[in-house]
Amino acid sequence: MSNLQHNESSRSDTRAEAAWHTYKRLLVYVRPLWCIFVISFIGFAIYGAGQALSAKWLEMVVDTVQRNDYEERWFLALAVLGIFILRGVGGFIGNYSLAYVGREVIHRLRTQVFERLLLLPSSFYSHHSSGELLAKLTYNVEQVTEAVTSAIKVLFREGLTVIGLLGYMLFLNWKLTLIFIAAGPLIGFVVSKAAKRMRRLGRRIQQSVGDITEAASESIKGYQVVRIFGGADAERERFQQASLHNKRQFMKLVVTQSLNTPIIQLLVALALSALLFLAMHPDVMGSMSTGGFVAFLTAAGMITKPLRLLTDVTSIVQKGIAAAESLFEVLDEPVEQDRGTRTLEQVGDIEFRHLGFAYPGTDKPVLDDICLTLPQGKTVALVGRSGSGKTTLASLLPRFNDGWSGELQINRQPLESFTLDSLRSNISLVNQNVVLFNGSIAENIAYGSMAGASESSILAAAEAAHVMEFVAHLPEGIHTRVGENGVLLSGGQRQRIAIARAILNDAPILILDEATSALDSASERHIQEALEEVMKGRTTLVIAHRLSTIEKADMIVVMESGRIVEQGGHEELLAQQGAYARFHLLQSADKD
Ligand code: ADP
Repeated sequence: MSNLQHNESSRSDTRAEAAWHTYKRLLVYVRPLWCIFVISFIGFAIYGAGQALSAKWLEMVVDTVQRNDYEERWFLALAVLGIFILRGVGGFIGNYSLAYVGREVIHRLRTQVFERLLLLPSSFYSHHSSGELLAKLTYNVEQVTEAVTSAIKVLFREGLTVIGLLGYMLFLNWKLTLIFIAAGPLIGFVVSKAAKRMRRLGRRIQQSVGDITEAASESIKGYQVVRIFGGADAERERFQQASLHNKRQFMKLVVTQSLNTPIIQLLVALALSALLFLAMHPDVMGSMSTGGFVAFLTAAGMITKPLRLLTDVTSIVQKGIAAAESLFEVLDEPVEQDRGTRTLEQVGDIEFRHLGFAYPGTDKPVLDDICLTLPQGKTVALVGRSGSGKTTLASLLPRFNDGWSGELQINRQPLESFTLDSLRSNISLVNQNVVLFNGSIAENIAYGSMAGASESSILAAAEAAHVMEFVAHLPEGIHTRVGENGVLLSGGQRQRIAIARAILNDAPILILDEATSALDSASERHIQEALEEVMKGRTTLVIAHRLSTIEKADMIVVMESGRIVEQGGHEELLAQQGAYARFHLLQSADKD
């Protein structure tokens, strides 16, 4: 065997192992529901027995007709009814209980993945697009449902039917049955070849569904940019490519699936024709009655349908396994590290000591030898060109990014020694990209852990953040619903809601990423006043763009390429005639 072939086969071995592992892991979800699973199995066993009984019934009918003995006609007439009722009831019980198991498994899996998403570190979000993640929660989860419900249903129902029919055939004439079974290994070979291919295609299809969702969601969210900059053609092309790729992969799957069935049917037909030929031989025929012979051939014919369904099932199971793999990938992602044991109660000074930081997977330091103190209750403004590391520096405080070198301390204790919950509950955040959730303005202000806040405290926060000025004249006031992601509000209004949220939260540390978007001067004045309100008495780290904020800050820190190049008061830095003075000059010129 050449090296290449060897690699191919060992890779497919490990893939098969991984698939088996995934399947076992899926079964763990089924385990607590084993009772219902057993009921469903019994239901389908009854169904399968019904199939075998109908072959037996045929044998009896033919033999009765042959004997010209109609004593048993009542029994035979009632028996066919009984068999159908048995099969119907069995099928219903099986279907219902299996669907219950399937939906329950999906519900658990889906909520687990979502809960995981709530715990994953920000680095995970930088490496996965929202389209990809949404596709996982919708499309991939449905694929797993298919594998768990439809596939197992067929596996049970048709599998048990095959067993029932084969059992009956063995009972009638074991020699003939063994001849029939000889086609088994051939069928197995075709099925396993097809299964491998279908698993691979299933994986590609999921990827392509992710690409489609991503292309669509970006174009929908950014529709204005798309229109203004003439991106429609490129977006159309990208979407078409993604959709076309999806179609092609699907068609390949259909080809594999559709070839699989006739090939297997051909093999069964071969077995049947050999059967018929050999059955005519007296040695094999033995002492079978005519009824027995007819019933035997009927049973062998009846087996082809469940066999075909069983082979189709492999495709569903393979797609499901590929989908489950992608869900388990999310479940296996390491969550945010939270080794802290202390609870942060009083917040004192915050100190950065010779702190360095590089994003995971890169070795380029984004922050380098940062030494900085944020004194309790004071405002420190970060200024510097875009890309100089201001956002990264601010993201370390709530530990959105981890793994720095040097030290970052609160109350002279390492930041990591506090639990994430207690650390974050002491921090408020107002950033440029205000996220509003679908709900009323009041619900957006009293978001998350503040959900139980009293109406009066929400109103007070709204008042302080100058929210009431644009809300008061709305018919439902503070209880007016904002459209999805706040589309009915202007940028300045959204920001004031975010500030009200921070005021109500009343956390001792405040991180402010000031909006640079051109606000009209009335809005800017309102926001400035609202900001001054929220900054009062809090340790504030502000990524500052406005001259007024910078000048009023207790300390200004000028950053350049991840390093602090100057720090001090406004006047002091101006007098130094350095980077800050140049920055100030530029901004004042802009203002004029
Ligand atoms: P600023 O806020 O001053 O504009 P940032 O802190 O956003 O600067 O970025 C500093 C540097 O870090 C930039 O060079 C940027 O490319 C890089 N950077 C920002 N976010 C990430 C990330 N998630 N992964 C890798 N590099 C990043």
